Amino acid sequence: MDADLVIVGAGLFGLTIAQQAVEHTDARVEIIDIRDHIGGNAYSYLDEETGAEIHKYGAHLFHTSNRRVWDYVNRFTSFTDYVHRVYATHDGEVYPLPINLGTINQFFRAHYTPQEAKALINEQAGELAGTDPENLNDQGISLIGRPLYEAFIKNYTAKQWQTDPSELPASIIKRLPVRFTYDNRYFRDTWEGLPKDGYTAWFERMIDDERIHVHLGTDFFDTGQALNKTALVGKVPVIYTGPVDRYFDYELGALQWRTVDFTERRYDEDDHLGCPVMNFPDSDVPFTRAIEFKNFNPERRDRQNHEKTVVWEEHSRFARRGDEPYYPVNTAEDRALYKAYKRKAEAEEQVIFGGRLGTYAYYDMHQVINSALICFEKQVAPLL
Ligand code: FAD
Ligand code: UDP
Repeated sequence: MDADLVIVGAGLFGLTIAQQAVEHTDARVEIIDIRDHIGGNAYSYLDEETGAEIHKYGAHLFHTSNRRVWDYVNRFTSFTDYVHRVYATHDGEVYPLPINLGTINQFFRAHYTPQEAKALINEQAGELAGTDPENLNDQGISLIGRPLYEAFIKNYTAKQWQTDPSELPASIIKRLPVRFTYDNRYFRDTWEGLPKDGYTAWFERMIDDERIHVHLGTDFFDTGQALNKTALVGKVPVIYTGPVDRYFDYELGALQWRTVDFTERRYDEDDHLGCPVMNFPDSDVPFTRAIEFKNFNPERRDRQNHEKTVVWEEHSRFARRGDEPYYPVNTAEDRALYKAYKRKAEAEEQVIFGGRLGTYAYYDMHQVINSALICFEKQVAPLL
């Protein structure tokens, strides 16, 4: 094996490190991934029947206010002018999200001005004034008042956590944004959009260099293949972006994650939801939201099937070992456990832990790219 750098995980963290390594040094880079594709959780593929670009691990929308990251990603792809907007079906009506003046006026059958709406929400949020919210339920009511909380947050959150919000810690929701304008743009970042030719084309361009080799279907812990932990650690610099607890064989215990199950539905219609994402905050609908992938790319209408569409319904639950880890649960115990793993990780010779699984963190794509760019400069480059 004559690699100068081995990267475990072809997600955005690993791909960014690989790209930087060949750009700034003479290094030869081997990337391995246990999956049969690159891109990690941001991977997508074309659905032949409908012409939709399906985001295999759930909807991915790119957004950032970081100029360096925006300039960096634009080297490998251009972006569509897609602007993310989400709607919610509650009690037989469709409302705009995040909760804004349109949601409030529709909900209360009113035509409040911003000031009037603010006064109303303040009054309703004062219901528990003087008490210290101990659980998520009370916290939600003290942030936006009971009526809106119960309509849009309570049952959605219960479904997402499979736990009654009165038994969830208040700390899960620090703030619930309410906008007193009709602006229903979901993200507030300077730039947003979707990669014009899809996510996978973007990722392939990042590592289009003869010094980068990718090995798919390759598990770092499988000693039956050459690029494994036992063979490499201490001998060559390794970037590890898999789960940190798995690296240490769960010796201190397992970190908790939530996972998402997707139910795919196909309809003989051009458009089923009328938008890309519809949330279902009521308890009688078993899933949290539905995604209609065709609607993320209206600019591809001429390449899509107008008689068929595909929708994925999302069911969220606690992950068991073997499930895809998606969102860190992040209780106080999890954080303490992660700290202990982090100390062990720092003691590993020539191994750098990165990305969302390697650092037990919820990161958006732009944050992962930013942390990888910084990690390359500060930690990886000095090793090469
Ligand atoms: P990953 O993409 O998870 O890559 C890690 C890779 O390591 C994986 O490919 C895995 O197969 C591999 N690996 C693990 N173990 C091994 C092993 N033993 N051997 C070999 N390889 C291994 N971000 C946004 O910016 N916008 C969004 O709208 C958005 N939506 C999201 C929706 C969902 C449901 C989820 C879960 C995430 C979302 N994200 C979103 C976050 C985004 O997915 C991450 O920021 C990004 O993909 C993380 O990249 P990463 O390289 O850290 O990890
Ligand atoms: N949330 C909610 N109702 C909604 C949308 C979101 O209660 O219709 C809450 C819920 O607790 C969720 C959090 O807001 O966990 C963040 O949701 P968002 O959709 O922004 O992020 P994601 O679930 O993709 O991480």
